Amino acid sequence: MIITPKTLLQNIPKINPNYAKVLEKLGLLTVEELLLYFPFRYDDFSKTVALDEKYLGQVVTIEGRVAKAKVNRIFRRRLTITEVVIQDKNNLPLKAAWFNQPYLKELMPEGTELRLSGKLEKKGKYFVMTGPAWEKASRDATNTGRLVPVYRETRGLTSKWLRWQIKPLLDQLGHPMSKLMIDPIPRETLEKLNLPPMENALRYIHFPATVNQYLLARKRFAFQEMFLVQLKSLQIKKEWENNNSVRIKFDEDLIKKFVSDLPFKLTNAQRKASFEILKDLEKSRPMNRLLNGDVGSGKTVVAAIAALQAINTGYQAAIMAPTEVLARQHFENFNKLFKNYNLKIALLTNSYKLLGDKGEGRPSLLKMIGSGEIDLLIGTHAIIQKDVKFKNLVLVIIDEQHRFGVAQRALLQQETMDIQDGIKSIPHLLTMTATPIPRTLAIAFSGSLDISILDEMPKDRKKIVTQVIPPENRQSIYNFVRSEISSGRQVFVIFPLIEESKILTEIKAATIEHKKLSDIFPEFSIGLLHGRLPAQGRSASGGKLSKEQVMNDFKSGKYDILVSTSVVEVGIDIPNAAVMIIEDAERFGLSQLHQFRGRVGRGEHQSYCYLFTGSSSETATKRLQSLEETNDGFEIAQKDLELRGPGQFFGTIQSGLPDIAMENLTNVKLIKFSQMEAKDLLAKDPELKKHPATREALLKFSQKIHLE
Ligand code: ADP
Ligand code: MG
Repeated sequence: MIITPKTLLQNIPKINPNYAKVLEKLGLLTVEELLLYFPFRYDDFSKTVALDEKYLGQVVTIEGRVAKAKVNRIFRRRLTITEVVIQDKNNLPLKAAWFNQPYLKELMPEGTELRLSGKLEKKGKYFVMTGPAWEKASRDATNTGRLVPVYRETRGLTSKWLRWQIKPLLDQLGHPMSKLMIDPIPRETLEKLNLPPMENALRYIHFPATVNQYLLARKRFAFQEMFLVQLKSLQIKKEWENNNSVRIKFDEDLIKKFVSDLPFKLTNAQRKASFEILKDLEKSRPMNRLLNGDVGSGKTVVAAIAALQAINTGYQAAIMAPTEVLARQHFENFNKLFKNYNLKIALLTNSYKLLGDKGEGRPSLLKMIGSGEIDLLIGTHAIIQKDVKFKNLVLVIIDEQHRFGVAQRALLQQETMDIQDGIKSIPHLLTMTATPIPRTLAIAFSGSLDISILDEMPKDRKKIVTQVIPPENRQSIYNFVRSEISSGRQVFVIFPLIEESKILTEIKAATIEHKKLSDIFPEFSIGLLHGRLPAQGRSASGGKLSKEQVMNDFKSGKYDILVSTSVVEVGIDIPNAAVMIIEDAERFGLSQLHQFRGRVGRGEHQSYCYLFTGSSSETATKRLQSLEETNDGFEIAQKDLELRGPGQFFGTIQSGLPDIAMENLTNVKLIKFSQMEAKDLLAKDPELKKHPATREALLKFSQKIHLE
């Protein structure tokens, strides 16, 4: 049988159907996919020596001949020990022992030449190895005597088995399999960057002769993935830019006036971001820009500048927020910001229906949107429902964009409009997120998306005092909470939900936490917020409260303390809340803790954040202490990226990156190189006509991942 990279593993006679099934579960169907299943580490068995006391305690490889083999059974402990004595070339004896593998004895009859790798010890006159890796010395070194690849194993699939399958595939006589594998990286690029071609890289990564070889191979595959990410990003951007948008001329007088009427001075970061956006709006290709700034960095006013410019030119703008509470908050804010302008601002949420409003409100509002009478529409998902039709929507602003799916965003972008001569335009798009994206990640994705960063907080913002609190100091914090509430402040308490716990439902856990606090603070009224409450609506009949109702009650001062599970995003401003307590803080990532902390310090009061921890581990405490030191979300995000990898940021940008690319998202150099090479290639060969291997790999890659 001739095996090629596309051969199905289940058709290979050497692979027994049971194994084929396990491989399938791992998503490995073809030879090619198996060869791209990389080891995650290596055992270094490369030191082959003759027996000598100077190697005691080291991991070494010994070759020798079997002198004696026996199986001892210890019935009491249901244990078998296979004990094999081998004689090395200096005629010194080595005793190797394996537990519960009695069949080994038959595989190692007297006189067999073996190669053993493991930690060398000595007991009495014998050198000893316990459970060493082994193979016959006549075999090519695969499991011993070299850098041995270790793969992620699942039930029924061992690294040893994988090695035995992969090695011969790579070595296939006459048809070196690895040579048949397509190489998505153009030769010129490989040569320029000194990276090994596919056929060598595959050997290096599975069976490296030296540490340098696998480092080189990993570098190559990291580049490959990042190169594909960048190619894809650039293609998305190009596709996006093939659309038309209305050019919105920058009216300097208008914006200057608006800015000078603000009760505060813009930060430099706000100025720069606004300018970038206004420049984008002047172009006939649609803007696709992410405004990224910490909670409280002042994104709203930047969005307002963009909206004002668009509306003032006679067009409509829309703002979409993920929850009704946030939409309402925007509605109030924009009414204030635009109070001196004669603009029609409307709020559209689903509660029209929930409130049982059958009639008047909604249809007449829809009519006003359709006729262009409404200048600025603010709302939730409700604004992308089918019956909402704009007259001339030119700017869409999406707050907390990660909370919306790609499809939902695409819907707003379908609001097309004829500009002239049958040319259609789509709205410019501004998305906003309060999750600071680390610099390196931002660079990695700058191919498909433009990013403006608000990395400067408005002046005279009070620093939130943050402290890690060990169990023995809780009481003093509770006392402090009492005095804060007595002087009129309110308090948040957030606790983690342990997802694995099936016994405790979220409601139960929340109720227990609520009870606990009620016992500590019997004198205060305590509200409870958890993910199982309905999103909105209020029931007058004393039925179930909604999240919105609880938030509003807290805002209006009905509760002194609000207990909330971490699954609820409390996005609303409560200027009077000055203390935030986070239980089991060590369970959260730094960025997430920083997000929670951003819920206080929204008013004029000095605010406090207490990170309660039950852990006395020094590393955990140290990690948390970095929050005591800085309030800078970008700095914290970068630290978090280094500590916990990029996965947690993916809600905000995209998901599903391959492992190697993920590991390398902190590698700025790699990202920059791959971006440059991708740009170069597309400039020379935009359709990749001359690079079919790259084109094919990109197609396959696109099916696996989603870049937004
Ligand atoms: P976010 O980025 O979290 O959306 P907001 O836009 O809600 O932040 O701004 C938070 C608060 O800071 C608001 O009360 C806003 O009026 C105020 N603010 C915004 N920019 C400035 C500034 N340059 N100086 C002082 N206060 C500002
Ligand atoms: Mg905001």
